[in-house]
Parts: sequence; structure tokens; C-alpha cells
Amino acid sequence: MKALQYVSVGSEPQVREVPTPEPGPGQVLLRVTAAGVCHSDDFVMSLPAEAIGFPLPLTLGHEGAGTVAAVGAGVREVEIGTNVVVYGPWGCGVCWFCAQGLENYCSRAAQLGIFPPGLGAPGAIAEYLVVDSPRHLVPIGDLDPVATVPLTDAGLTPYHAIKRSAAKLRPGSWAVVIGSGGLGHVAIQLLRHLSSARVIALDVSDEKLEFAKSVGAHEVVLSDADAAKNVRKITGSAGASVVLDFVGFQPTIDTAMAVAGIDSDVTIVGLGDGKSSARVAFGISPYEAAVAAPYWGSRSELIELIDLAHEGVLDIAVERFSLDDAPEAYRRLSAGSLRGRAVIVP
Ligand code: NAD
Ligand code: ZN
Ligand code: ZN
Repeated sequence: MKALQYVSVGSEPQVREVPTPEPGPGQVLLRVTAAGVCHSDDFVMSLPAEAIGFPLPLTLGHEGAGTVAAVGAGVREVEIGTNVVVYGPWGCGVCWFCAQGLENYCSRAAQLGIFPPGLGAPGAIAEYLVVDSPRHLVPIGDLDPVATVPLTDAGLTPYHAIKRSAAKLRPGSWAVVIGSGGLGHVAIQLLRHLSSARVIALDVSDEKLEFAKSVGAHEVVLSDADAAKNVRKITGSAGASVVLDFVGFQPTIDTAMAVAGIDSDVTIVGLGDGKSSARVAFGISPYEAAVAAPYWGSRSELIELIDLAHEGVLDIAVERFSLDDAPEAYRRLSAGSLRGRAVIVP
């Protein structure tokens, strides 16, 4: 089968012919119908060899959708032909976090060598994908896999971040979204649908700001050196009650902290350069502001998101690419010229 692989450190991903996998006991084989392209892949591909915790070549793609093509011995929970999306942050299934459905925070995954597809295990940008357990599949019924696959990360990650701050998204409050790309444009829609907070979106070009408005931002502000001042003009002295930073470089973290209000949540989702940080201390950060850097989301949250998608309230912007054109999708991602999410359709 064809697969998009990251072959060696610093190289562009390549479409290659690899053996078609077979499901082992307890596993499920999917014929991939759609696979999303995430900025985190770019981050991984920017790392030096010693910082990559798994062997190369790696088939990319941690957002996957497919139809069940075959099941391994002992699998009774899914039927051949079912349309599903894949819950990506695989865990052991038995530790305390996994028991909560929070496999993203599995305390034993590293020790057991369990990796998400596309981030250590063979990923979804291929004709077929092996999923380690039917527990990691969510049926999507008649939803379009191409428009639905971004929900597994570009939707799930902001959903998790927003749910933890639900109590602070009260009427009259302001939520600030920094970076209105793959994750950010879903975050804006989720904020609008799940809360009555007013949303201010930041990005680096008028085109991106127009996009943010089109998906529901009440206000938009250019993310430049004056961004914090301009956001404060809108929020007044109260500042924002929730700030979601989908960029995570020092300038955006500084903006996030400067617009955060008293008792706010500042959530840093973007991976940035892996070195930037927020400063929290008396007199430096707003009173009782809480800063967190969460990772992905839980299994039950993905089920909830798929239910939300069935309600028809989410409008995920996707740009489609064939498997042969997948390297071009990554070029467009790096260039920042995508509108919403790039989705590979094998
Ligand atoms: P994306 O490229 O689709 O979107 C990023 C957006 O940020 C773009 O619209 C870009 O124009 C904008 N941007 C860039 N610099 C900016 C700046 N200085 N100010 C404001 N906006 C700016 O990326 P994505 O796939 O949505 O991912 C966003 C970030 O989230 C990445 O860093 C990614 O690695 C990270 N991520 C984290 C998790 C997690 O679990 N924590 C999960 C998925 C993605
Ligand atoms: Zn991702
Ligand atoms: Zn676990």
C-alpha cells in the first residue's frame, strides 16, 4: 500500500510503498477514508534525532477515519464496514487516568512503549491503518469522514481545553483565541456553541482574521506587538476570563498573559518552539490566574464531539489532498497558507 512517511531527520515526508498491515489479536484494520494534517507533525519533524522518541521511518497521520476492513482474533465490538474515527492518544487502558477515559494522560504509556498512530505507531496517512483496540474507535454513522476526521485532534484538543474552563465562560466574559488555524477555528465554534462568552480571535493576517470572523469570532485583532493593548481596548480592565493560545511562542504567550484577567484560565495548547513559557508569580501574573498546557483529550470527549457533529452545529473547514499530494499539504501547513485543516483522502 501507499503511505506518507517521515523517513529521516530533516527530510520532507515522502509517499512510499510499504507492506499492507494485518490486524493482530485484539486489533482492527481500517481502510482509511480520511486523515488530517496537524501542525504537531511539523514540530516533530523539526526535532533533532536525539529528541525523537521512536524509530524512523514513521508513517505520519494522528487524525484518522476509516471503514473497518478486518478484525484480529477476539474482536467482537465492531463490525466490518462500520465508519469510524480513531481516538489517537492511545494508553494502556487500565491505569487510573485510562479508567477515566483520559488515555491522553496514561501514566504507563511511555513505560509500555505505547505511542499514538502517526506519533510513534504507524499513522493514518496511508491506505490502511491498524488500530490497537476497538476501544479506540468511535462510529460516525453517515457523517462525512473528510469533514469529521479533524474532530479527532483539531476538535478534541480545544474541546478538552474549553470544557475544563466551562465555569469561567460566563455571560459577559471574554474568551481570547490566539491562532485561528486548524485547532483555533474549531475552538471558536466550540466556544460559541458551548458558552455565551464573547470571542476575540487573533492571527497574523487580515485573511486569517476574516476566516476567524466567518466561523463565529465576535471581534478580531491582529497578533502584533500591540495585540495585548488592542484586546484590552475591547475587554476593558476586566480582561479575558479564558485565553487559549494555539501558537505557544514567546510573543503569543506574553500576549496571553497580558490580556488575562483576575481568576482567569490561560491555556497554552500550541507547542511553539518547546522553550517558551509563561511567568506566574505574585505581582507578575493576574491574581489567581491559572496557567495550563494540556495535551489532546479524553475518549468520552471524542464521543461527545461526534454527537455534537451529528447535531450539525460544526462547520469544519477542510482542504482536500490526495495521498500523492500529501507532501504538498505539509508544505502548505508550514507556509501557513491553509484555511482550516488539510485532509488527505487516499
Ligand atoms: P495551524 O498551522 O493550522 O494553525 C496555526 C494558526 O496560528 C495559523 O492560522 C497561523 O496563521 C496562526 N499564527 C501563527 N503565528 C501566530 C502568531 N504569532 N499570533 C497569532 N496567530 C499566529 O496549526 P494547528 O494544527 O491548528 O496547531 C496549532 C498548535 O497546536 C501547534 O503548535 C500544534 O503543534 C499544537 N497542537 C497541540 C496539541 C496539544 O495537545 N497540546 C494538539 C494539537 C496541536
Ligand atoms: Zn495534532
Ligand atoms: Zn493507562
